[in-house]
Amino acid sequence: LLLHQVANRLKACITEQDIIARLGGDEFTLILQNVTDLERAAKVANSVQHALLTSIQVKKETVYVTASIGITLYPEHGKTVEELVKRADQAMYLSKKKGRNRYEFFSYSIEEKATEKRKLIEEIKLGLKENQFELYYQPIFSVDGKSITKAEALIRWNHPQKGLIGPNEFIPMAEKNGLISDIGRWVKSQAIQDCTLFNKISKRLIQVSVNTSPLEIDRSGEWVEQWIQASKQFNLPEHSVLIEVTENTLMGTDSEIKRQLRRLSEFQIDVAIDDFGVGYSSLAYLQRLDIDILKIDRSFIKDIEKNDNSIALVRAIITMAHNLNVEVVAEGVEKQEQYMLLKQMQCDYIQGYYFSKPVSKKVFVSEFIEE
Ligand code: C2E
Ligand code: CA
Ligand code: CA
Repeated sequence: LLLHQVANRLKACITEQDIIARLGGDEFTLILQNVTDLERAAKVANSVQHALLTSIQVKKETVYVTASIGITLYPEHGKTVEELVKRADQAMYLSKKKGRNRYEFFSYSIEEKATEKRKLIEEIKLGLKENQFELYYQPIFSVDGKSITKAEALIRWNHPQKGLIGPNEFIPMAEKNGLISDIGRWVKSQAIQDCTLFNKISKRLIQVSVNTSPLEIDRSGEWVEQWIQASKQFNLPEHSVLIEVTENTLMGTDSEIKRQLRRLSEFQIDVAIDDFGVGYSSLAYLQRLDIDILKIDRSFIKDIEKNDNSIALVRAIITMAHNLNVEVVAEGVEKQEQYMLLKQMQCDYIQGYYFSKPVSKKVFVSEFIEE
C-alpha cells in the first residue's frame, strides 16, 4: 500500500514522456527524457524529495518516508542500460551513506572507490590467510604508575605493499563485509597465546584486553561459546582476558546479549565498556550487565587539565563506577597534568602515550615484563 502511494507521488514529479518503474524492493527508477544537464536532473530530484515530505496514510498508520537518490546522465555515465542503472545505484548508495534523504550524481571517483573497496576486501582475506596481521600491545598501568596489570591488544596489518596499517583503515570495512568475525577469531586465538606467554614470562597475571566489534557478537551465542571453548583449551587462568565492548553493543541490550555477557563472567572472563561517554552512556548498564571495567573515552581526558566541565564529568563517572563496584581506566592520557588529576580523582588505571604507545609484542615483553 505504501509503495502504491509513493509511486503516485513520484508520478506527479515527471512529465508524460518520462518513465517510472519499480525495480524491486523499495527502489524506483525514473527515466527522464530530454534532460541533458545536471541542473535539470537536480530539479526533478528536489521535487521528488518534496513530494515525499508530507506523511502517508497506510490504513491506520501514519508513515514518513524519504528518498535517497542517485543520478546518472546518458551518455556521459554510460551507454547501456546496465551501466546507467549500476552507476545510478552506486550514486544512490553514496547518498544513503551521506545521511539519506538527498541526491548524488554518479562520478567516476565513486566507481574508483568501489573498486578500491573490493580490492581491500580481497586483500584482507589474503592477509588473514598469509598471516599479515599482528597484535600490538599498549600497557595499562595501575594508578601508582609503577605496575602493569593489563595490556590492550591492538591489531595492526603488515601490508606487503603499503606497510604497517592501523585498524581504523580496515576494521570498518571488515565490519561492513562480514569479515570482522574472521578477524575476531584470529585476534582471539593470537591474544590468548600472547597472554599465556606474558603470564609465563612475568610469573604474574597480566590481563590482556581484547577489542570486539558489536557485529561479532551474534545472537546465536556462537561468539561467546568460542571464547569459552578457547579459554578451556588453553587453560587460561581466571581473569586473564578482558573483553572490551562498546556501548553500541549494549544499546537496547536484549536479554540475549545480557545472557552471553553473563556466560563470560561465569568463566571468569572480564568485560569492559570501551569508549565510555561518547555513546549512550547509561550507567545502568554497569549494574545490569556485570561490567568489570569502564574505560573513559579519550575525548574526556584530552582537555581535562584545562576544562572544568571535563573534570566534573570524569570525577562523576569515577565516583559512580566505584559505587557500583566497577573499576575505571582512563584512556588517552598524554600529559603529566592529566595523570596527576586522574590520580587525585582515584582513577584505577591509566593508559596512554604518557606511559607508552602501543608496541609490538617483542618490545612489550622486553620493555615491560622481563625483569
Ligand atoms: P580503541 O579501542 O579506543 O583503542 C585505543 C586507540 O587509541 C588505539 O588506536 C591507541 O593506539 C590509541 N591511543 C592510545 N593511547 C593514546 C594516547 O595517549 N593518545 C592518542 N591520541 N591515542 C592513543 P589504534 O590502535 O589505532 O586503534 C583504533 C581502534 O581500532 C581501537 O580504538 C579499536 O576500536 C579498534 N581496534 C583495534 N584493534 C582491534 C581488534 O583487534 N578488533 C576490533 N574489532 N577492533 C580493534
Ligand atoms: Ca579499546
Ligand atoms: Ca577506547
